Amino acid sequence: MFRSVNPATGEEIATYSELDADALEAKLATAASAYRHWRATSLEERTALLARIGDAYEANRERLARMATLEMGKTFDSALAEIDKCTAAFRLYAKDGPAMLAPRRQALGGGGTAELHWLPIGPVLAIMPWNFPFWQAVRFISPAIMAGNVGLLKHASIVQGVATLLEEMVTEAGAPEGLFQNLAVKSSRVAEIIADDRIAAVTLTGSEGAGASVAEAAGRALKKLVLELGGSDPFIVMPSADLDEAARQAVKARVQNSGQSCICAKRMIVHAEIYDAFMDRFTAGMKAVRAGDPFDKGSDMGPLSSFEQRDTVLQQLKQAKSLGATLLVGGETLDGPGAYLSAGILTDVPLDSPLKHEEIFGPIAMVFRAGDIDEAIRIANDIPFGLGSSVWTNDPTEQQRFVREVEAGMTAVNQMLASAPEAPFGGIKRSGYGRELGPFGMHEFMNLKSVLHV
Ligand code: NDP
Repeated sequence: MFRSVNPATGEEIATYSELDADALEAKLATAASAYRHWRATSLEERTALLARIGDAYEANRERLARMATLEMGKTFDSALAEIDKCTAAFRLYAKDGPAMLAPRRQALGGGGTAELHWLPIGPVLAIMPWNFPFWQAVRFISPAIMAGNVGLLKHASIVQGVATLLEEMVTEAGAPEGLFQNLAVKSSRVAEIIADDRIAAVTLTGSEGAGASVAEAAGRALKKLVLELGGSDPFIVMPSADLDEAARQAVKARVQNSGQSCICAKRMIVHAEIYDAFMDRFTAGMKAVRAGDPFDKGSDMGPLSSFEQRDTVLQQLKQAKSLGATLLVGGETLDGPGAYLSAGILTDVPLDSPLKHEEIFGPIAMVFRAGDIDEAIRIANDIPFGLGSSVWTNDPTEQQRFVREVEAGMTAVNQMLASAPEAPFGGIKRSGYGRELGPFGMHEFMNLKSVLHV
């Protein structure tokens, strides 16, 4: 049994029953038979379906967004933006998908040619989190459909209403039965599903712990895996940056989605020369962030996704303070029901603190002072993660050093980092491996076949 609880009120929204063993078996069998059909479809058939799913998202925009806001508390406006991004992703693969799959020719030194074909591999299991409950799943489903694979989703327990709608949209668009199915199962059953011969590969977005468990199960079954795990992204500000813009974007980058994004800027690393000037602006910006009813247009952020998630962040704040950190502003629960937490700033976090091994998944920024670019890069890299980063400087030499030396899968220059359907997304170190989105993301779950011709 799954319970959906509105984190803005604490009230139960709905319950969903878990699949029993027979129902799970039926879904796996349906996925296998759907794959036998879908792998042989023309590219035109696939792009036509993707376009229709995009239309279904557009037509149901408000209903979908409402479910995300109710189940995990994001502001309704940001939920609408999430749905629009999903629509754009379906349409992007409908338009550019065939070019991403075009065979390539490679002349061979010894004579003849190799023709490189991208072929589907089978049913792929996606284990997804609650923070962008539509987008995280759609960035898996849309390339999977284009590739000729079929998808199975094990969504986070707290967003089973969204999971149901994700399946409904694909079905409503006229997809063949079994092309994309939601598996309402608990995480304890994931290893058994991965081991099933009908599953070809696995992708997971979530915490390090979930990543390690899924990697173990995929390793035992020798199955391809993409992992998109957490991060503690640096946001580096150098003296030549536009300080007003950097501070404004730093606030947005930290509190977006109530601070619950893997690529939120979590550690602001500021050059000593402009530290005070930046902090004046950043502190004022964080103090001005309004946490409140996510359906109210005046709210900058809603509650955290659950009371458990807020407890985790409060515990991290307590730990930081006990280690000598200063809570400069915010980090307070609000009166009344709802898992609200105000935007906060931590300074003086010791560089060797255990917190550097953790992701703070809430609207709390850590700020560090760096004497020069070497120290800024050292602090940026001194964590086990390597997902995103944002660097603020108008000096081209500094920009090149950051691009080369910041250990991350993504670096945004003079802007906050955001994912785009066209650009590969993923990390290094303990942030995972493999890439999502763009042609690279689609190719992760395909068989690159070399066909040799004389
Ligand atoms: P989890 O990593 O626990 O959940 C993500 C998905 O993995 C869910 O579908 C979850 O299912 C599933 N899962 C969890 N444990 C296992 C397991 N052992 N085997 C297979 N599947 C598993 O995230 P939480 O919701 O618990 O959040 C905890 C922390 O994870 C956050 O504070 C944050 O640091 C990080 N996180 C990072 C995200 C990112 O985008 N990088 C997204 C979400 C969380 P179920 O919900 O049923 O447990």
